[in-house]
Formats: sequence, C-alpha cells, structure tokens
Amino acid sequence: MSEEMETPGIESRIPTPDLSCPKCDNLLPQGLGIIQCVMCGSKVNVEHEGTKRKWREEKIGCPVCSKVLVVGVGKRPANLQCSACQSHFVLKPNRPKIEISCPSCNRKLRMNKKPGEREISCPACEAEFKISF
Ligand SMILES: [Zn+2]
Ligand SMILES: [Zn+2]
Ligand SMILES: [Zn+2]
Repeated sequence: MSEEMETPGIESRIPTPDLSCPKCDNLLPQGLGIIQCVMCGSKVNVEHEGTKRKWREEKIGCPVCSKVLVVGVGKRPANLQCSACQSHFVLKPNRPKIEISCPSCNRKLRMNKKPGEREISCPACEAEFKISF
C-alpha cells in the first residue's frame, strides 16, 4: 500500500472532535465547517468553539529554525510564517491514527483513521483484508 502524497509542512497536534453523522451514524470526516458524510452524502455543519480556541493557542516549533510559535489561527490547514526566520510553512490538520492488527500475521499496523471501508494489504505478510470505522 502506498502512502498518500504529503504537502510539506507540519501536522497540528489538536484533532477535531470525533463526530458521527446525525442521519446514518457513521463517523464524519475530520474538520470544521460544512462536512459531507462520505457514507450517506448529507452535509453537516460542524462548529466547535473549543477546538478553534485550542487551534489559536496551539504552540508549534518552526520546522526550519525550531523557534516556538503560537499559531494564532483558528483553522487548519493554516499558512504560517515564522517570526524569526521568515520561512513559510503549512500547519496541516491532525490526522488521527488507529492501531489494528493484521488478521493473518497479527502484526500491529498504524493507519490513518478515515471513515468508510478500505482494503488494506499487510506490509509484512501481504494478506489483504478490509477495515472500516
Ligand atoms: Zn451520513
Ligand atoms: Zn523559523
Ligand atoms: Zn499480515
């Protein structure tokens, strides 16, 4: 399985809350604002002041010079500029990970948590199996 392409930047440590779709009860994709349920297609308006406040107050280290910066922006991704070295970088949304074990070789695998069903092929034994959240 190949990992998704990543844009350069660092990842926020603060996830959005896990919310389920009010219509079909499946896990909604991460994020705030208008979120579309991948299972039933309904659009849900997700607002969460507590998360936005934590996002504004989050402290991160500049990926270039390591200076500690307060983000000050209540959204993710956020385009930031370091006040010390002037580098531009992107603070990406937090991607929660879950740990599963391969049903064939029992090896522990860390996956990005995403709603819906996915087919996984185990990097150790190449067994294919399905996961869903
Ligand atoms: Zn739904
Ligand atoms: Zn810097
Ligand atoms: Zn395996």
